[in-house]
Amino acid sequence: MSTQDARPPRPGYFGRFGGRYVAATLLNALEELAAAFYEAMADPAFHEEYHAILRDYAGRPSPLYLARRLSERVGCKVYLKREDLNHTGAHKINNTVGQGLLARRMGKSRIIAETGAGQHGVATATVAALLGLPCQVFMGTEDVRRQKLNVYRMRLLGAEVVPVEGLQGTLKDACDEAMRYWMGTYEEALYIFGSVAGPHPYPTMVREFQRVIGDEARRQVLEREGRLPDLLVACVGGGSNAMGLFYPFLEDEGVALIGVEAAGYGIDTGLHSASIGAGSFGVLDGTASLILQDEDGQVLPVHSVAAGLDYPGVGPEHAFLHESGRARYASVTDEEALAAFRTLAELEGMIPALESAHAVAQVLKMADELGEDEIVIINISGRGDKDCEEVARLTGGESTT
Ligand SMILES: *Cc1c(COP(=O)(O)O)cnc(C)c1O
Repeated sequence: MSTQDARPPRPGYFGRFGGRYVAATLLNALEELAAAFYEAMADPAFHEEYHAILRDYAGRPSPLYLARRLSERVGCKVYLKREDLNHTGAHKINNTVGQGLLARRMGKSRIIAETGAGQHGVATATVAALLGLPCQVFMGTEDVRRQKLNVYRMRLLGAEVVPVEGLQGTLKDACDEAMRYWMGTYEEALYIFGSVAGPHPYPTMVREFQRVIGDEARRQVLEREGRLPDLLVACVGGGSNAMGLFYPFLEDEGVALIGVEAAGYGIDTGLHSASIGAGSFGVLDGTASLILQDEDGQVLPVHSVAAGLDYPGVGPEHAFLHESGRARYASVTDEEALAAFRTLAELEGMIPALESAHAVAQVLKMADELGEDEIVIINISGRGDKDCEEVARLTGGESTT
């Protein structure tokens, strides 16, 4: 987060992407939120409190770790940005702390959120407890069934988990229902959205609350190496951890950026969630971006072994960075991600989230192209404790239960 003006030139747009494609009744709520956000951005006291909580409560700054054995394997210098060490185990807490403080500043008396796998729900419930605000988390019935541990965590933290039947009982249904519910409650409630997608101001706001990742990494690598890195790599679901890492480096032309989407069973199978790699222009969750849709504009079912990447859209700023050529987007299959999950555990003693394992896999795949003097930073967006049971099931290892 920086006190400089965070406003895109045409508010809420990134080229032809972004905007606010919502029912008229929601425009008031979004307008109020945008005004409060820009006002908070200009207030040093807001930044101070946000950074103090990230430091004392979430454990920032997260280390930038030189992964020696992984570097040897890849054949260049590989640093890992350790978002896995944050409180609640991923980068999501950076955003929920920011939006939680904004809710309090706006005088809201309660919080609403959506969740898919439950990671954003847990990070939101955590901040709601911290701030003493009641919290409702909307979650698809299928996800409630699949993610029992996170449902239990949210309830333990005092949140109410609201199951949503919908079409598939997954994230898309939870988003729709949370938005609909917010329409009738926005005077007292703030909707804390989990990624750099959704209607304006969310893509800009979530980026500003996640850019702490890139701001720190920039400082840390300059201190360690005396120069900027050659390449940044991060996984992309909605795109918040990648945007957070990339943003402070956008003006540095010598720094290449690669976002890694989930190729699932393979792009040709149609069972993946590569919205940039295989999507087309459309509107999803109130924003124009690249989305996975059929010829009639119906959103397609998506798949990834990493629940946090399983989203049929992507943040509009990523769609823009792709079209402008500033960033490149690659994709990694379930199988490649599972192999990288194991490789990082064996080489570095770190079990990454399956989402983050996609970024690691991409760098392993690029070993031949990278020169030995090159410096690469991989964002380890979260830790993999949550995934161990699923990986054991899929790979035939011993189950944890
Ligand atoms: C949610 C999640 C992601 C995907 O979300 P982005 O908005 O794309 O960052 C990636 N990694 C982890 C560990 C997550 O929990």
